[in-house]
Amino acid sequence: RTVYVNGDYLPEEEAKISVFDRGFLFADAVYEVTSVLSGKLVDFAAHMKRLERSLSELKMTRPASEADLLAIHRELVARNGIDEGLVYMQVGRGAADRDFLFPPEDTKPSLVLFTQAMGLRDKPAGRTGIKVASVPDLRWGRRDIKTVQLLYPSIAKTEAKAKGADDAWLVEDGMVTEGTSNNAYILTEDGALVTRALSHAILHGITRAAVLRMAKEDGLRIEERSFTLDEAKRAKEAFITSASAFVLPVVEIDGLTLGDGTPGPVARRLREIYLAEAERTAI
Ligand code: PLP
Repeated sequence: RTVYVNGDYLPEEEAKISVFDRGFLFADAVYEVTSVLSGKLVDFAAHMKRLERSLSELKMTRPASEADLLAIHRELVARNGIDEGLVYMQVGRGAADRDFLFPPEDTKPSLVLFTQAMGLRDKPAGRTGIKVASVPDLRWGRRDIKTVQLLYPSIAKTEAKAKGADDAWLVEDGMVTEGTSNNAYILTEDGALVTRALSHAILHGITRAAVLRMAKEDGLRIEERSFTLDEAKRAKEAFITSASAFVLPVVEIDGLTLGDGTPGPVARRLREIYLAEAERTAI
């Protein structure tokens, strides 16, 4: 596989980053994951906009123009022959002698990209749904910034797996924040689509924005508010969204089956609408 590291396209075995890279030492880096459908990038402009925001919140230097980043994404997709899968892009503050203080502003930011070929559209979970288990949300207070500090989500997903679930739903003060790498939704008995409002408590999902827009256009009533784990367990349906999962139905929460244990009609419909739109607008 060919990867991109600081200006070079290299076979992955030859790619190197500095031992002093602050992404490695301090998790001082941000990232984006863009999905690829039929060799094209889904919602690329929105990912760039969020990257811009993450960089500016952390006073990090942008490593290349949006046009250059698009060209690198496309080049990697082409070189690796990706028809369906993901492009991972990481931007870091760069390499500097180890110090908690930020290095001088002229430190060269680091830029790493790689691809992952994988089936996204037809994965079995789209038909069967997934199981989630609740895990306390012990992440830091700026989850709206997409940093590579992913140790806690990784612990949480592993804990959820040990409980027989596919992913965790993180819970803070009795309220569901989001999944380990996705946003969380429920459909109430009276037909409202509920998802947590944007704040520092959750990542502002690109797929979340797109799905809410489509759900609204499709006539659903949207309530952007917090919901408890108990409300979720009593919900008619539940699902998650992310760039790699699109819309995935949730059929079980903490061992409790939702409805008849199969994906609900709203989640299935939104998955279809999202996929069609993503395919149509990919660049
Ligand atoms: N929430 C968290 C914590 C995430 O890490 C992600 C994606 O990685 C999401 C939500 C979903 O965001 P997006 O739809 O932009 O992939």
